Amino acid sequence: MDFLQDELIKLKHDSLLRELKLVQGPQEAKITIDGRFFINLSSNNYLGLCNDARLKNHAIEAINKYGLGVGASRLVCGSMMLHNELEKRIASFKGFESALVFNSGYSANLSLIPALAGRDDVVFSDRLNHASIIDAVILSRAKLWRYPHVDMQALESFLKRAKRFRRRIIATDSVFSMDGDLAPLDKIVDLAERYDAYVFIDEAHATGVIGKSGRGAIEHFVIDSRRLIEMGTLSKALGSFGAYICGSSSLIDYLVNKARGFIYTTALPVSLCAASLAALDIVENDAYSLNQLRDNIVFFRQSLRSRGVKISDDLTPIIPLLVGDAKKALEFSERLFEQGIFVQAIRPPTVPEGTSRLRITLTAAHTKRDLKFCLDKILTTAKKFGIITSV
Ligand SMILES: *Cc1c(COP(=O)(O)O)cnc(C)c1O
Repeated sequence: MDFLQDELIKLKHDSLLRELKLVQGPQEAKITIDGRFFINLSSNNYLGLCNDARLKNHAIEAINKYGLGVGASRLVCGSMMLHNELEKRIASFKGFESALVFNSGYSANLSLIPALAGRDDVVFSDRLNHASIIDAVILSRAKLWRYPHVDMQALESFLKRAKRFRRRIIATDSVFSMDGDLAPLDKIVDLAERYDAYVFIDEAHATGVIGKSGRGAIEHFVIDSRRLIEMGTLSKALGSFGAYICGSSSLIDYLVNKARGFIYTTALPVSLCAASLAALDIVENDAYSLNQLRDNIVFFRQSLRSRGVKISDDLTPIIPLLVGDAKKALEFSERLFEQGIFVQAIRPPTVPEGTSRLRITLTAAHTKRDLKFCLDKILTTAKKFGIITSV
């Protein structure tokens, strides 16, 4: 199989080879790699809950009570009390009638879109949507019409030309994973109402982070529509693992019957449901982490701006520093790594050609001292690389 080596050599030559860095010890604001400490500016552990004692204790309790594995899919005999409790809790947290838990965000997206759309349907997808949405549409065999990033005029003109389809679905990240900006959900829902379409939003980076109390972009925009279906993960801000889809109770009944990534997979271990419930308790009753995160976001974004770096006004923890060239982005990341800062270079195919970047993510667990240290190092290194603007 010579093609494997050939392809790897080509990736390396193009600065697109990906390699694993092994983290020793738990996921914290500082992590250990090769025995050295790094300030971690790459994680989606926004509320710093991945190693939180409250989540761990709930998980351990659940393991002691219910065991580790579930032994079967939900529909066979793997549906447990904690799955049900978590689903009720998510639905009420998100303000939907019903919710269904999936084993990951990737599999939730791959299950949902093919369950709703087929050959006679069209899915409108923002150009910068997460790979799992694109893969899901391809799997569904529906037409995939990609509109320029957050371009509502383009979306409307697509909708006008799509009356012949059986169903029209607009799919969008609510916080874009590599750009950190928000989709104009109010306008998207408005267009859906006018052109008889459904809206599917992916709140992977919004849940626990955006909106007054961390309920996501639907809280930020105050959106409530019968046309809305939402997906989110339990693995990012909530520090646990798994994902969910929210909607009407008929949608959830339908998915139990039709969503292949729900039907043909062993159910999520209930220890993770217990941890997610503990995380939701924290988000709902203890604003400390969210306030800490917001403080860090405002501090870091304002500091960048006051030093002449152009960044968007969005108050999300994802801050891209646009580099352009993949090789240069990789070198930028390596220079920071040498200085004790871990920021991943994001390169194609994760982002479009020519938009390689450093993707900085902030968490509640970073101290101001850490962030000041990072700011100085990032800015002096960025100057050496001739990078002064962001997307
Ligand atoms: C991370 C992510 C997913 C996948 O979620 P997992 O639970 O990690 O599989 C889906 N959509 C978006 C926008 C994401 O950022």
